[in-house]
Amino acid sequence: AKGDRKNSLRFYESELGRESQHRLTLEGDLRHALAEGQFELHYQPVISLSSGKAVSLEALIRWRHPERGLVPPDEFIPLAEENGLIIPIGEWVLRRGLLDLASLRRHPVLQDMTVAVNVSSRQLVEGDLLATVSQALQQSHLSGEALQLELTERLFVDELRYTRQLLARLENMGISLVIDDFGTGYSALGYLRRMKVDTLKVDRDFVRDISEDEDDALLTRAIISLAHDLEIEVVAEGVETEAQLDFLRNCGCERVQGYYFARPMPLEQVERFLLEALEN
Ligand code: C2E
Ligand code: CA
Ligand code: CA
Ligand code: CA
Repeated sequence: AKGDRKNSLRFYESELGRESQHRLTLEGDLRHALAEGQFELHYQPVISLSSGKAVSLEALIRWRHPERGLVPPDEFIPLAEENGLIIPIGEWVLRRGLLDLASLRRHPVLQDMTVAVNVSSRQLVEGDLLATVSQALQQSHLSGEALQLELTERLFVDELRYTRQLLARLENMGISLVIDDFGTGYSALGYLRRMKVDTLKVDRDFVRDISEDEDDALLTRAIISLAHDLEIEVVAEGVETEAQLDFLRNCGCERVQGYYFARPMPLEQVERFLLEALEN
């Protein structure tokens, strides 16, 4: 048994070695990825329940790795947040997302389309987000109304130095602020009244079980009603079934997003999707 333990320890150590080796390789690759143009944005339509039409597109990053194929964000965004690369990557996302939106808006029927971009808190605290956003808007000849920034709840709760001022400035530019992943992990709600938030996005974790789990249904209904009392609109993400959709519509949820309507897609594909949907 002693030998077994020793062996498993050795196995564990070599696993660890492989892990950190893998991490180092990944970090090196990540540094090159930006310069080599290996990132892509895919777009997932957000549907307004009153019109049944797509009103915005969430930009979701992917990494087209030469050997590993299409790498999802969960596998590299946390690392980029740790090592600071999220700042230049985030700048690229804002620029690319707005340029893509400008190209979609050349279609007269897509003139009111907007884009939602995920922003990590490090971009807000260390990056010059105001300047980055202004430049990206100028470059794409769009005004702030075209852009939504999705920020996680934590950022609002912590109220880091300058956060409130910075968010107020962005709001003054016409940009909408969305609280992402709402309901996951924070219990403080006071900030909802203090901060200028337009929209709250109910996390997929709640939406998943609303048609089977009575507690999740109750909580989701309560979140939506709280938001409405504060004049905040609600988007629900991860909608996959008609039953979920019916429940959310019944609660007065304004917008929905999920595989039930559309998966995230490359620009050309989302363009076709939007144009076809508008023809019908
Ligand atoms: P998120 O902001 O919560 O994005 C929603 C995620 O749910 C996306 O995963 C989307 O593809 C997925 N999703 C949408 N509808 C459904 C559905 O009906 N069912 C299921 N099961 N999943 C659905 P994705 O694209 O893998 O992104 C994961 C996370 O990575 C995002 O979570 C966001 O936190 C982060 N992320 C993505 N792009 C960026 C970026 O440009 N910058 C930053 N900072 N983070 C990003
Ligand atoms: Ca998001
Ligand atoms: Ca989420
Ligand atoms: Ca549950």
